[in-house]
Amino acid sequence: MTENKAKYQHLAPETLEFIGSPRKMLIDNEWVASSSKETINTINPANSTVLTSVPSANETDVDTAVRAARNAFNNYWKNDVSPAQRANLLFKLADLMERDTKVLVQLETLDNGKPLEKAAFDIEGASNHLKYYAGWATKIEGSTVPVDSGKLVYTQKEPLGVVGLIVPWNFPLMIAMWKLAPALACGNCCILKPAEQTPLTALYLGKLIIEAGFPAGVVNIVTGGGIPTGQAMTQHMGIDKISFTGSTEVGRSILEGAARSNLKKVSLELGGKSPNVIFDDANLEEALNSLPWSSFYNSGQECTLGSRVYVQESIFDKTLEFLKKKAAAMTIGNGLDNPDLGPMISEEQLETVINYIQVGKQEGATLVYGGARCNGSLSSGYFLEPTIFTTQNENITIVREEIFGPVVVISKFDDFDEAVRKANATEYGLAAAVWTSDLSKAHRFAQAVDAGTVWVNGYDLFDASVPFGGFKQSGNGKEMGKSGIDLYTREKSVWIVF
Ligand code: NAP
Ligand code: MG
Repeated sequence: MTENKAKYQHLAPETLEFIGSPRKMLIDNEWVASSSKETINTINPANSTVLTSVPSANETDVDTAVRAARNAFNNYWKNDVSPAQRANLLFKLADLMERDTKVLVQLETLDNGKPLEKAAFDIEGASNHLKYYAGWATKIEGSTVPVDSGKLVYTQKEPLGVVGLIVPWNFPLMIAMWKLAPALACGNCCILKPAEQTPLTALYLGKLIIEAGFPAGVVNIVTGGGIPTGQAMTQHMGIDKISFTGSTEVGRSILEGAARSNLKKVSLELGGKSPNVIFDDANLEEALNSLPWSSFYNSGQECTLGSRVYVQESIFDKTLEFLKKKAAAMTIGNGLDNPDLGPMISEEQLETVINYIQVGKQEGATLVYGGARCNGSLSSGYFLEPTIFTTQNENITIVREEIFGPVVVISKFDDFDEAVRKANATEYGLAAAVWTSDLSKAHRFAQAVDAGTVWVNGYDLFDASVPFGGFKQSGNGKEMGKSGIDLYTREKSVWIVF
């Protein structure tokens, strides 16, 4: 930890230069302003100061980006760049990201607020993802299908064409890469929209994309708010697919935009309210040590957060005491000081979460720890204490809705059936965890829980090779692994009569 602080804390000249003047966005390998000249500020949530400004892309700008992408796709990317050449470009980009890790880590910490060590984890994850999909570029195969004699049928997987990638602010570069890497490996041209709160690492990546040698128009990066920029992408007739990560509400509006325009394909990675279930036969030390992080990681701004903890009756008090003590010991501060928890992303998000805390109290949950905005030297940023509630009421708002802050709700259960019933009592289905030493119970739980990812005796385990995506209202489509290829290709069947 201290090592990473020393490695990244002193701002590099490139970092200072990057935030030292207004940024432009990347269209057709050119750095451009918005056609309206409008800009938006991006701020440092640790102290609410403006870092720099970025263009606010409107419908016209999005249209220019789509034309550049389509032109690149039709005129060279589709036919003239071989899978091996695509792979080389992706490997080259990963190398450049590794070369410039320090700058990327610092920009992510400044823009998003997350601690340096956590930002470093994200940047490393992003370049690993790129390398994983670079390997796939040369292995996207079709099949031959046995049919009647005198006929041959083969299938092939083709790129979709121009894809729009809309990403959130909680893991800015990492989630961008979850989309960009497979989309490019499959041979698509891309329009990437980072969240308005955190555009900086995506724009720095744009520099590296040019340096790596990607032809013009293959990757375009447009900045701006959900409205107008994201909406213009969703409704554009020339975009073949939108891949989105963010709120369920915006996910719905993207499906609507697709339905009303060209029926573009849509994959959605949405919210969650993931159950973290601890049985009394678990290795308690391991379960407890994981609990502060599964409850508060990234200041709770994480779609897989274990925000509903269910603990078997006999170990409930001990678990609660432990978490209270750990929450009190967590350091909170400016990400550049590498604390345990950084700020919330914005004043707005902080207010939303504080409002949830009020509602939790009003609806009868017991506030056991935290619940307040941090003051003193932290009052100029958007800092919130890690917060613990207990309740046995399953119907209250803080048990049902995604809060997206460092707020965890802990409840008791008696037996296996009650644990499963409670775990599944949600409209979401992104992830779930179970802690037990009983192998058969672990398997039975994994089978019974309605979640796209299940962790047994662990939490938040990810790998570029393992499919990730939600059931129910947590979304559709699986990112990562081989499944990620299906999101960015279409399958053609060819019949030959001989
Ligand atoms: P959000 O509004 O869903 O934002 C995600 C992305 O979608 C951003 O790039 C956003 O742009 C864009 N967007 C917003 N409105 C759009 C529209 N009408 N059409 C197309 N794109 C649009 O999420 P948020 O406001 O940042 O956070 C709100 C809640 O979303 C959180 O409290 C949390 O519950 C959830 N969330 C989930 C995840 C996740 O990983 N599943 C991540 C972040 C947030 P701008 O941000 O630039 O406006
Ligand atoms: Mg910011």
